Amino acid sequence: MKVQQSLQKISVELDSDDLMKFEKCPACGSELPKKNVGEVQSNPTISLLKCSVCKAVSTSHHAKPEYLRKYYDEVFSKFYADFNEEELNVTFSNPQRFAKHIFNILPGVGSNSKTFRLLDFGGGDGALALAFSSLLDGPEKLEIDVIDYGDDLVSAGSDRFVITKHESTDTVDGKYDLIIASASLEHVIDLRTAMNDLIGLLKPEGHFYVRTPYIVPLKRVVPAIDFSFPAHMHDLGVDFWNRVPDVFCGKLDIVHSSPSIVEIDWRTNWYRYLIAASMKLPANIEFFFHKRKKFAIWPYVGGWETMYVLSK
Ligand SMILES: [Zn+2]
Repeated sequence: MKVQQSLQKISVELDSDDLMKFEKCPACGSELPKKNVGEVQSNPTISLLKCSVCKAVSTSHHAKPEYLRKYYDEVFSKFYADFNEEELNVTFSNPQRFAKHIFNILPGVGSNSKTFRLLDFGGGDGALALAFSSLLDGPEKLEIDVIDYGDDLVSAGSDRFVITKHESTDTVDGKYDLIIASASLEHVIDLRTAMNDLIGLLKPEGHFYVRTPYIVPLKRVVPAIDFSFPAHMHDLGVDFWNRVPDVFCGKLDIVHSSPSIVEIDWRTNWYRYLIAASMKLPANIEFFFHKRKKFAIWPYVGGWETMYVLSK
């Protein structure tokens, strides 16, 4: 297993024994021919294929689940363990800043509910979910479910918050006022099932926030950009996310759709913040006026985020 380690590069090259082919579009199930839009490795070839129906870009193959488990245990954890806390803080923004960003998309959310239910899919130790819930003044009780691997879980610190960890959607119960899937759906082999499960867990008028990498347009200009395979299998931009109401659920409406928030806090690394913010600016302007548009004139943004609401 060859690991190429840098902050931007965590891909490994896989042998054909460790790979399985996606027979259909993993996002929508379409069997129609897909457009080849790039490559993540050459021997054996793993292509990037764009679905003509849902516009998801997915790798032609995925790592076998047993390989992926080993990869996360050995490569992913080692990758993060090699950086000290200061370096990690430069790269990853704090949960409070990100929670505030999501809250600002939905000002006043939860103000009329007694109990607010939040699901964070791929939510790690629950820090983001707790930080978001702490911003809600209205509800007396906040029930937070976090789906992720491992036992790590933040301490609620107050009886007002009840945080529970789950390994999959199979064990969660009831429906949610807000579901967050931030930087998680690109890791899921069966994206179609995950999407349908999450949408099915929304309460009427519940909100669904998604954030994913959208690097393929950039990678077509700069092929050296790392796709983070096999951890990442999907690249989902505005053309996918703004079609979700058509492809997955007609009761979803788009509340917000834009390039994703710049991950780096400008106070910790202002020049990296400035570069990222400048790359996103043209599309931010484009989508400020037309949030339901299904394509971007300027798609070189690195990531996309969308907020939906489920109608009654
Ligand atoms: Zn598709």
